Amino acid sequence: MNHLDNLITHRPNFVTHLECGMTGEHYPKEQVHGLSKVGKPLLVRYDLKKIAEAVTKEEISLRPPDFWRYREFLPVRHTINIVSLGEVMTPIITLSKVQAGKGTLYVKDEARLPTGSFKARGLCMAISMAKELGITKVAMPTNGNAGAACAAYASRAGIESFIFCPDDTPTINVREIAQQGAKVWLVNGLINDCGKIVAEGKQAKGWFDMSTLKEPYRIEGKKTMGLELAEQFHWQLPDVILYPTGGGTGLIGMWKAFKELQEMGWLKGKLPRMVVVQSSGCAPIVKAWEEGKEHAELWQNAKTIAWGIRVPVAVGDFLMLRAVNESSGFATSVDDEVILEARAECANKEGFLMCPEGAATFAAYQKELKSGRIKSEESVMLFNCAAGTKYELPPVNSRLDRNQPIPYAQL
Ligand SMILES: *Cc1c(COP(=O)(O)O)cnc(C)c1O
Repeated sequence: MNHLDNLITHRPNFVTHLECGMTGEHYPKEQVHGLSKVGKPLLVRYDLKKIAEAVTKEEISLRPPDFWRYREFLPVRHTINIVSLGEVMTPIITLSKVQAGKGTLYVKDEARLPTGSFKARGLCMAISMAKELGITKVAMPTNGNAGAACAAYASRAGIESFIFCPDDTPTINVREIAQQGAKVWLVNGLINDCGKIVAEGKQAKGWFDMSTLKEPYRIEGKKTMGLELAEQFHWQLPDVILYPTGGGTGLIGMWKAFKELQEMGWLKGKLPRMVVVQSSGCAPIVKAWEEGKEHAELWQNAKTIAWGIRVPVAVGDFLMLRAVNESSGFATSVDDEVILEARAECANKEGFLMCPEGAATFAAYQKELKSGRIKSEESVMLFNCAAGTKYELPPVNSRLDRNQPIPYAQL
């Protein structure tokens, strides 16, 4: 028997309505929604008082260690609609050898999730809600990991998926998407060009648009990162969170989680400073933050080996900038070469192989500790968002000929 059955079938749902992230305009729950009327992301709102009455931290702590333990904070109404591949709580690992300040350096290892990336959190929730709302066909642009998670959960739900990738997306991702039952195409452009194909085709093809922040529920899935962090840190969060930022779902979702928990009085101490980390080859949010803008401009000629954060334009730009500013955080970028060096250093010294996006947060930690924007005594949380082995690694050329004497002295 699935533990979800006895746990929550009869639990009430606490969603009150959806709300435009820009104008605050309300939208009814239990209906299919994309963007708001003004073309901005919709946020799910809950009756937090009722949640606080319905469940305690202690009760949550006794539940199975997956993200459905936060069911009251999530939008799925009927347990039967939950499409699950085993969304484990991911471990937090201390990096003591590469720690450069006095404060502890942590990494949350999201590689342990289904399909090997934290995109599983968002897509698990979005596909479960798609099932609940009777959606049968979904489409999305992707740099790889989101498409893989979308394909997996959609197939499991019996939903058709149509995925569009830039033609330089790592082969492993593209093949993973196809093998998991999606129809996948390579497009000679970037993720925003792929997004245009979805937007222009969805009417004719009857697709529901699963693009980042263009539907309301991926954020709620990513929000579980924030809920999990809070619980794992005994409801007192680390000082600084460095987040590898593409479309920004995770950053916005975590900040939403912290605000909800704070409003319920569940958190001790202050909220973390949220830091946007991008590659200097594609850093629209960093540029907008530095210029004090509310929206980011399209980044021209985006180029980085950290595929997950190669996002030249994001519909949730203002929500990311808001989270950074409200939390007194900042936005920073690192060069690709530095990302690869940081990745090698962490793997070498700690035995922890990050994805390039995760390594970007480690590189940013080193950079900003030097700059003083992170203080030595502050505790810092990095995010490793995908399995390091999904990405290219430096070649190995050492060979031995078993028919010759093995030169042990030289090994
Ligand atoms: C998608 C992705 C990101 C960026 O996440 P967002 O929440 O969309 O900003 C970072 N790293 C990896 C590995 C990703 O797949």
